Amino acid sequence: MEFIQARSIFTPATGFIRRGGFDWTCNPYVGCVFGCTYCYAMFLPQSREPLDQWGRWLRAKQNAVEIAWKSRHRIAQAAVYLSSVTDPYQPIERSLLLTRGILEAIIDVQPRLLVQTRGPLVVRDVDLLAQLRHIRVNVSIPTDSDEVRQLFEPKAPPLDRRWDAMEKLKSHGIAVGVCITPMLPIAEPERFVDRLAEFQPDVLVVQSFHNSRGCFGADTGPKARKLLTQIDWGVEEFHRVVDQLRRTGLRPLDGEAGFFPPGTDLTP
Ligand code: SF4
Repeated sequence: MEFIQARSIFTPATGFIRRGGFDWTCNPYVGCVFGCTYCYAMFLPQSREPLDQWGRWLRAKQNAVEIAWKSRHRIAQAAVYLSSVTDPYQPIERSLLLTRGILEAIIDVQPRLLVQTRGPLVVRDVDLLAQLRHIRVNVSIPTDSDEVRQLFEPKAPPLDRRWDAMEKLKSHGIAVGVCITPMLPIAEPERFVDRLAEFQPDVLVVQSFHNSRGCFGADTGPKARKLLTQIDWGVEEFHRVVDQLRRTGLRPLDGEAGFFPPGTDLTP
């Protein structure tokens, strides 16, 4: 892990994040030790490392909290996406406290905050998150099978720890979104759908796991493309699970349509 000095910590949103209604992104880290094989962030210019090294390096913005305090008024009541190209709850966040420090800095300006993570460490900050009027934590649950998870994201936290984190967030009154993005092979679709229906996420986002042949998307990592050719899972299976989700009364939103800030009025 390397420390770097950042020039800013809030960056104007671009691309699908901007289209979704966000004003700013916030990334306390560069790189991500969870190293998901399908992560688009490995292709971004700031990554600068060979693709096969994705998940093996991390840079922490040492001055992130200091800059957040200085520039927090820029994001007053604006829609902020934390984080777009890393996970804000890296294991080392436990001791570095960058994400926590940023949250402490921004509470008084009340941004509309979306936290995107698969790190159960997010529950540590429930005391701060609960002070935001518009807050949602999106947790990635791309499969029901830890065997599948081991194939595609072996260094990311086990699925049950993510479910536990979601339950704890919910029990503190924090809105929780579930991101099945991309949907990896599901071992027991009925049980998975029942579990989601019982949990009742505030937002449910789905995206198919398809081969976009190296274009920007959620399957572009070379390891993920290789795994895809070995696994019998495709668009038909994806649609079958989505149909099952709909039959339970859940409203799965497809890809980009599900990435909008908390506090957005969705009435047509
Ligand atoms: S946790 Fe998110 S940022 Fe990290 S590798 Fe996985 S998809 Fe990429």
